[in-house]
Amino acid sequence: MSEKTKIIVLGAGFAGLQATKAFLKGAPDAELTLIDTNTYATMLPALPDVLSGRVPRHAVTRELSDIFPQRVRLIQDEITAMDFTAHLLTGVKETYRYDYLVVTTGSKPAFFGFAPESGSLHTLHSYPAAEALRAELGRKARAASHTAQDASHTAQDASHTTLVIVGAGYTGLEVAACANHGYAELRSGLSILVVEKADDILAFLPAKGRQKVRSYLESINVELRTGVSLEALSSTHATLSDGTTIENPVVCWTAGMQGANENIIGSYEHTRDKRLETNEYLQLPEHPNVFIAGDLAALSDGESVLRRAVNFAYYSGSRAADNCVRVMHGRKPRPFRPVDLGWVIPLGDMSLGKVFGVVPVGGKLGLRIHYFMSGFRHFGRAEAWEFIKTAVFLGRAADRPDQEAAAPQ
Ligand SMILES: Cc1cc2nc3c(=O)[nH]c(=O)nc-3n(C[C@H](O)[C@H](O)[C@H](O)COP(=O)(O)OP(=O)(O)OC[C@H]3O[C@@H](n4cnc5c(N)ncnc54)[C@H](O)[C@@H]3O)c2cc1C
Repeated sequence: MSEKTKIIVLGAGFAGLQATKAFLKGAPDAELTLIDTNTYATMLPALPDVLSGRVPRHAVTRELSDIFPQRVRLIQDEITAMDFTAHLLTGVKETYRYDYLVVTTGSKPAFFGFAPESGSLHTLHSYPAAEALRAELGRKARAASHTAQDASHTAQDASHTTLVIVGAGYTGLEVAACANHGYAELRSGLSILVVEKADDILAFLPAKGRQKVRSYLESINVELRTGVSLEALSSTHATLSDGTTIENPVVCWTAGMQGANENIIGSYEHTRDKRLETNEYLQLPEHPNVFIAGDLAALSDGESVLRRAVNFAYYSGSRAADNCVRVMHGRKPRPFRPVDLGWVIPLGDMSLGKVFGVVPVGGKLGLRIHYFMSGFRHFGRAEAWEFIKTAVFLGRAADRPDQEAAAPQ
């Protein structure tokens, strides 16, 4: 009896899930394996809402065994090295052999050499990271706002706290707006400061749009300092390049993302931010049985590398798997031609965006589009429904972020 063709999809994000679904249809006789560090998939655009409380936290993730109850071998492992010549993936737990591979490991934070002396440098790139930020912010902000009534807090816990967000890209600004929304009752003890190394924010927006965002931040009492970076961080204070020292900070790093680590990328062609170059069929040119999709791929519209976005990940994942099936059957693969459905930056009570790259949207309409699209792209029906409800009512869910942490998951 001949052995089944072994297909591995590495990474269970938007691209990996779409690829896996396409293989279930297109390669029903293959042995299909999906490997991820986690047992669940994460709706990454909803991570800032772990702080806003607009969506219940259980709706941010979905177990992979619920998405694929059968026919897919689900493996929880972290892949630390890939050998495309030997067709081998090395994980922390095991080594895996494949005939065909689709790699969709997404993005990771880039720290550009910055490391804290001590204390926590939070990020917002995964569900556990968002929960860790929520827990520390809640603990410190509650302590600060209860100082007067409760003498049992330690001196450090009881002082005023500042959420310092490093990087004023769309994620950093969204974190600021979501923290203001979710921790509204605790703002007397909580300042929010965004520092940005560049001289302005959101360079891709026209001046009017940038000014609108600045005015909004001012109106919600979020301080923005441009031309300023984080110089040092300890467990008690953060030092900024303008000479300021911030006592009792909670620091969230949103200053950069990169594709993959050196041991994964190897010597393959990649962009400065470590996204792998593919041919137009999403294959690694040197290894036509290896496909790259989602954030990890330097996806292009023919002129420039595309921004990291759910839609590009979603469609490139399906196209990579479709092309893999075509190659398996000796057929010519088809080029990946991205369609830009547009973008929305949701900022608490306001938003900015462009649908199909041309129709401007803002205010509550933009927010509703954002939550509706998150529901539409969700991996689970019950979770999707929570996002649709948020899109309609724009209210606050029952599990408030500013209150004592419930056990995650
Ligand atoms: C906070 C935040 C907000 C965002 N907001 C928006 C938005 O509003 N709209 C929008 O379009 N886009 C948004 N994005 C970008 C969007 O989420 C990404 O472009 C999209 O998730 C990319 O999909 P992907 O499948 O390539 O990667 P991911 O969704 O990141 O999935 C990668 C998967 O690979 C797994 N993985 C990684 N490394 C390994 C390894 N070594 N071994 C095993 N498994 C591994 C991870 O666990 C993860 O499950 C946001 C991103 C973030 C972080």
